[in-house]
Amino acid sequence: MLTNEYVKRVYDQVQKRDGDQPEFLQAVYEVLDTLQPVIAKHPEYEANGVLERLVEPERVIKFRVAWVDDAGKVQVNRGYRIQFNSAIGPYKGGLRFHPTVNEGVIKFLGFEQILKNSLTTLPMGGGKGGSDFNPKGKSDAEVMRFCQAFMTELCRHIGQFTDVPAGDINVGGREIGYLFGQYKRIRDEYSGVLTGKGLEFGGSLARTEATGYGLCYYTQEALRVLKNDSFAGKTVVISGSGNVAIYATEKAQQLGAKVVTASDSNGYVYDPDGIKLDVVKQIKEVERGRIKEYAERVPGAEYHEGCAGVWTVPCDIALPCATQNEINEESAKALVAGGCKVVCEGANMPSTPEAIEVYKSNGLLYGPAKAANAGGVAVSGLEMSQNSYRLSWTFEETDAKLKSIMESIVAASLAAAKEYGEEGDLMAGANIAGFVKVANAMVAQGVL
Ligand code: NDP
Repeated sequence: MLTNEYVKRVYDQVQKRDGDQPEFLQAVYEVLDTLQPVIAKHPEYEANGVLERLVEPERVIKFRVAWVDDAGKVQVNRGYRIQFNSAIGPYKGGLRFHPTVNEGVIKFLGFEQILKNSLTTLPMGGGKGGSDFNPKGKSDAEVMRFCQAFMTELCRHIGQFTDVPAGDINVGGREIGYLFGQYKRIRDEYSGVLTGKGLEFGGSLARTEATGYGLCYYTQEALRVLKNDSFAGKTVVISGSGNVAIYATEKAQQLGAKVVTASDSNGYVYDPDGIKLDVVKQIKEVERGRIKEYAERVPGAEYHEGCAGVWTVPCDIALPCATQNEINEESAKALVAGGCKVVCEGANMPSTPEAIEVYKSNGLLYGPAKAANAGGVAVSGLEMSQNSYRLSWTFEETDAKLKSIMESIVAASLAAAKEYGEEGDLMAGANIAGFVKVANAMVAQGVL
């Protein structure tokens, strides 16, 4: 609950201005709530208007994306790039192509990105972008024409020292390749302006795996420090079957867990013998098919319509890796009833505030998204470093750096939580640790 007068005033103002952006309000409320002890202890943040500035993007760019489909018909989508905060580095954050994208969704993601990027220890500010374009059912040529049209406008706002986008939902290697090619063509410049690039043109080894692997490194470290436990022998429920879900499954399996589910927006599969990841990769990465096909190919696996049902599957550990607000109060209660003791978030803001209350009141280990899924942007930051050096590190070197960053995030979160009287609270700790660095940089740079 908000009790600090300054914090309340800032939140009221956000509600007045952005009342029609529920996801953004949700993200801001959670962060402000946990920052109250910091604000109480540091009057300089109020004196410098840090919170008012933190919740207002530095720049919101919104543009028309016109392109021609395979039937020769003109299509128009909306494009966004929100450059939220550049206190500690160039704007950095992914692009999402999904019909649910709107200004409020991009703002919530960009806001979260500020603190997430700060937690990685790398010099990156916060930004996010995307479009309401739906790549499902589109041909390769249509996706390419859309990406080219999108970048034709975006290219004037980004650059290796200004703003470096990456992928997110429905923006993977294919899309980043088309976007990079168009940037290079228009600007006649070969630079590390995007991350998640192909290995042949400046990409980093381990970037594809980074968010999912990082999520498991984070979870493993939190389990070790807080519960003297590990993934070994655990049953794990994972939602989604995209980039984050696939590589979280891979690493959890390598760490000795049995992952029993995968899902997409239509439904989920339950495989009591453990998910066969090569089948999921073939369906999702090669054929761009539906998860239902897994049950048609693997004997003993079941398919269930409706993605929320995945949370009723009994497990020790749940890793939501699909989308925002995919676990509500009812799903959280189902997880607890099924024996779940740990929820660490691969997706951005997958748990509603009510779900988080259920985790807390039942003593679950809860790893919030901005800490637990920071591995993706961390390796994006490492890709930027490699591009600047004009060299590439091996998979093992990059993976080792990722692991050490994820472990440092657990340590920094726990230290910050302890300092402000919230011992063991990984959510409060992540918000506080991420915030303090950005806030101090904002104070030092004056009122901007
Ligand atoms: P992908 O597009 O690769 O995969 C997304 C998965 O989530 C698909 O299985 C998709 O199913 C499912 N999904 C998407 N929207 C919904 C929805 N509304 N309801 C149910 N299922 C849905 O995306 P990523 O794996 O990259 O991203 C997943 C999450 O992780 C997002 O929240 C993203 O912001 C976050 N994230 C991603 C990072 C990255 O490096 N890629 C970094 C940090 C966070 P379907 O195919 O049916 O749409």
